Amino acid sequence: MDIKEQLKQKLNLSDADFAKPMPIPTKWSRPFWDGAGQHKLLLKQCKDCGHIDHPPYLYCTECHSDDHEWIEASGKATLYAFAINEYGVPFPFMPDLPYVLGLVDLKEGPRMITNIVECDHNMLKNGMELEVVFEDVSKEVSLPKWKPIKP
Ligand SMILES: [Zn+2]
Repeated sequence: MDIKEQLKQKLNLSDADFAKPMPIPTKWSRPFWDGAGQHKLLLKQCKDCGHIDHPPYLYCTECHSDDHEWIEASGKATLYAFAINEYGVPFPFMPDLPYVLGLVDLKEGPRMITNIVECDHNMLKNGMELEVVFEDVSKEVSLPKWKPIKP
């Protein structure tokens, strides 16, 4: 019996107790989530100064312009920092333990919080090269996550 079934029986929980929170797109973040749904990593770039913001804001955080376009990112990044979660998480995330939270520096500039997946946790090192992968969490929603580029 897996951990989810054990917890359900022991604590009288239901499947609803294991429902993960889903992204709620805003007017200015919807293109990012629509892109992720198509397995594209889209970033908001200012047309006046070229700055790329993530998460996307209404205005450029560098020059306050509201003139922007969405560009497709390369999907390449380096690992800035990480933590391996082994316990002490809400019920929906318990079946995933242990999992890796990471801060990754995208080649295009922004730093993104994410999960590092598809790897041996013992081989993770700050500065290592990563590439994006998309996890389909529902019919409409996919989450960008990152995995080490194999040498
Ligand atoms: Zn700008």
